[in-house]
Amino acid sequence: MPSAHIAPLRVVIAGGGVAALETLMALHDLGEQQLRLTVVAPDDDFVLRPMSVAVPFSAGHVTRVPLDEVCAGFGARRVRAAVAAVDAGARRVTCHDGAVLDYDVLVLATGADTRPAYRAALTFSDEDPERLNGLLRDIEQGSCASVALVVPPAGSWALPVYELALMLARHARDAGVDDLEIHLVTPEPAPLAVFGAEASDAVARLLADAGIRVHAGSYASVQRGGRITLAPGDRRLHVARVVALPVVEGRPIPGVPADDHGFVPVDDHCRVIGVDGVYAVGDGADFPVKQGGLAAQQADVAARDIAAAAGADVTPEPFRPVLRGMLLTGGEPRFLRRPPATTNGTRIPPVSTDRLWWPPTKVVGRYLAPWLAGRAGALRAEAEAAPGGGLAVEAELAVDRDAQPLSLSPLGPLRRGPRGRW
Ligand SMILES: Cc1cc2nc3c(=O)[nH]c(=O)nc-3n(C[C@H](O)[C@H](O)[C@H](O)COP(=O)(O)OP(=O)(O)OC[C@H]3O[C@@H](n4cnc5c(N)ncnc54)[C@H](O)[C@@H]3O)c2cc1C
Repeated sequence: MPSAHIAPLRVVIAGGGVAALETLMALHDLGEQQLRLTVVAPDDDFVLRPMSVAVPFSAGHVTRVPLDEVCAGFGARRVRAAVAAVDAGARRVTCHDGAVLDYDVLVLATGADTRPAYRAALTFSDEDPERLNGLLRDIEQGSCASVALVVPPAGSWALPVYELALMLARHARDAGVDDLEIHLVTPEPAPLAVFGAEASDAVARLLADAGIRVHAGSYASVQRGGRITLAPGDRRLHVARVVALPVVEGRPIPGVPADDHGFVPVDDHCRVIGVDGVYAVGDGADFPVKQGGLAAQQADVAARDIAAAAGADVTPEPFRPVLRGMLLTGGEPRFLRRPPATTNGTRIPPVSTDRLWWPPTKVVGRYLAPWLAGRAGALRAEAEAAPGGGLAVEAELAVDRDAQPLSLSPLGPLRRGPRGRW
């Protein structure tokens, strides 16, 4: 941890996504007087990626906010560039355009890359969700009778596949197509198993009611012509179309340590292991579950640590991940939570039509979500985007701090290894 400073700490935040903005907002709140904030990112806009699944179904839109607006609102200097390298000894960042930024503290919130998992499948891309339009048209016209939706091993956050499956089923029914065969293939032991058995069972029932056939615990290899082999067991599927999530990979930055997948190793205060004055938060850090709500929680953890080091009256707290997911279904609004909460001694049912957090956004961040909700239209867009179709899920992640690190896949209990590694 950096030692306490009297002069304002120069904090450079690299990135313009969930983790970067939550870091900025938290630092602005916790230590504005003690900090000089700079955001360096190549983007024009902050893009709230999760609503991209709703776009092909005309069930919502992707929220965009100019980064200039956010930075101005939270007292940060804005540098439009991408970080090319870090000289941690000199506490200096070099950008691709040659710009040089000196820092006391650097927060890397540069996210992860994606690449297609299978050549013979259509890869769902949040940057181009309308790729699904052709598939939807074919289903409506009766020229596509079966679809498989696939979560690859080491895939990204799996929840969008469930949303796509449920909304696809709904879309087909609404178009008068009653016999569309939908398969969902996932290496998870059960649907959305990371949320725990109770939530998973509810999701499984939802899928069954929609007529979706789930192949859990299955690793797909996809050949041309919609031929899929499932392991273990060498089972076969033959479908008209295959849609897969991409694989996620880190974006290694020279001068910053990275694991075999390109993710930055951090301790439980999100400090980069072995490098002074550098934090990594969000999808780019080596926590195995890549999710916006967790990215925001990591940002809050790093911000508290930094603000405390800058002399603010804040106590640092370690990262204690809590997973909250809101599943777009296209069906009746239902909210689900694990473990079931109690309020005033009353158990709240695990499945409910009530929203379990406020604002009821897909990405839950202490600062970012209320701020986005407060912007004109942002809350309405998300609440209405699930036209009667939200299934909210909350789970505390089980963390075994003494076990060996888990691989990239968010399919089992989360484990930490020696030296605080996940
Ligand atoms: C289809 C889909 C649905 C999802 N659904 C949900 C959901 O329901 N709930 C949920 O919580 N999460 C969901 N997620 C996951 C969530 O979107 C991500 O976990 C979250 O966006 C990660 O935030 P991040 O800030 O780490 O990365 P990103 O949001 O990817 O942001 C990374 C930022 O870093 C910038 N950058 C990259 N390289 C550099 C560099 N060298 N220098 C400076 N800046 C750089 C990028 O331009 C970008 O601005 C979903 C994701 C997808 C794709």
